[in-house]
Amino acid sequence: MTPNAAGELARLNAEYEALIQFLYLAPVGLVQTDGAGAVTLMNPIAAQLLMPLSRDGGLDNLFAALESVAPELRFLAERFEQPYGKICDGLYVHLHAGAAGKARAGKPAPQILSLTLLKLDGARLMAVIADVSAQVQRERQLRQNEAWLNAILTGITDYALASLDLDGRICEWNPSIGRVTGFGEDAVGQPYSIFYPADALTLEHRCDRLREADDNGWSLDEGPRRRADGSTFWGSVLIAPLPDRDQQDGPDGGPAYCLILRDISDKRDAAERRRRDVFGDHLTGLANRRAFFEAAELELARNEAAPRPTAVIAIDADHFKAINDRYGHPGGDAVLQHMAGILADTFRTVDIVARIGGEEFAVLLPSTDLARAAVVAERLRAAIASEPAPFDGAAIRYTISAGVAALDPQDGERPGVDLLLKRADQALYVAKRAGRNRVERWRPELVQGGADAA
Ligand code: GH3
Ligand code: MG
Ligand code: MG
Repeated sequence: MTPNAAGELARLNAEYEALIQFLYLAPVGLVQTDGAGAVTLMNPIAAQLLMPLSRDGGLDNLFAALESVAPELRFLAERFEQPYGKICDGLYVHLHAGAAGKARAGKPAPQILSLTLLKLDGARLMAVIADVSAQVQRERQLRQNEAWLNAILTGITDYALASLDLDGRICEWNPSIGRVTGFGEDAVGQPYSIFYPADALTLEHRCDRLREADDNGWSLDEGPRRRADGSTFWGSVLIAPLPDRDQQDGPDGGPAYCLILRDISDKRDAAERRRRDVFGDHLTGLANRRAFFEAAELELARNEAAPRPTAVIAIDADHFKAINDRYGHPGGDAVLQHMAGILADTFRTVDIVARIGGEEFAVLLPSTDLARAAVVAERLRAAIASEPAPFDGAAIRYTISAGVAALDPQDGERPGVDLLLKRADQALYVAKRAGRNRVERWRPELVQGGADAA
């Protein structure tokens, strides 16, 4: 080796050392992998953030570690064609409560990670990972504050004021109700859900809001509302308990809450856009994985206060690789969009229909038991099997398999979102093994039957 070459080598070694040093000291998690996700370098922060996801204490492959919470990652990397660049930027990875719970006691476990994946060259990927749980919490708070502001700043002429009895029924009519909603005196005695589109509020949700108002002093939500003529508008509903209601409690159904309904249609576009950016799936327009877990956790938290059945359906397109192989990715994408349309038509407004992975979807059905959910899943299966997706002058026939699981308050068991989804997945796995294009219900024997592996 010439002295020159030796000097160059020493310089490169020193640079490499500095780089490793940087990796170790960086204030974010850094993971370097090969193209298939096999980990070649990882700094301590990354190890700490990812450890709750490890099944066996090892973290050999980044995609495998994230499979259960960000299954799309592997696919995004595979599909990324440029020689280098950003594969995904600030992807929110919602850790399962179960996985996060595994973190060591003392430190609060991260709930939500932000993940950016860079392709460095043909053989190397670099993931940058940060714990953004607190930030997401603040965002949520901010959204709530904004809803409050909207409710306060809206013009004074466009609100309806109604009093509700303990069950949420309208006690008396006044002109503001007529002005904003068009409902007449016949609204008296009806539940306040008449101001919501059909299917947008279950009976239990109606009670949840009253309970929230009792517990917090108020309950506020923003979304589509309905007038007497069936037309919809964007409105906010604030419910607050009446301060002097103790004297009025009783069998006579006197006023117990006040409800303020505001038409905030002019705020709608901004609110919708924000919601779509954070909670929407870009390909199908359905809810994304994050929205699914947030909404499901809220539903189950309310369920804890007022037990009722809740079902989850896991759905996976059959032989989807073959569709991609035959029609190309645009063909596969067209099928996913077509499928999303049928999903949206099949379920109620109150159900949370989400794309949680590449060709995997999940639906949460509030106030629905296993049998009913299985009936709806079967209807979905049949609709998809009979309606091919149009693509490029062709009609692509495809099928889905589905697994259904439910929380039954009578069992005395309280599975969380993760366990419910896992069970739905176990049932889905059985449907796949039994030949696909089927719906299976979860039952305890499935765990012993080997479906537990996933
Ligand atoms: P199975 O019946 O067992 O589910 O077979 P499958 O072929 O559907 O199996 P698998 O779940 O392994 O394959 C899913 C494929 O979906 C792999 C991936 O290439 C493809 N995929 C994932 N996300 C997308 C997407 O956004 N668009 C397209 N076109 N394809 C996707
Ligand atoms: Mg799949
Ligand atoms: Mg599939």
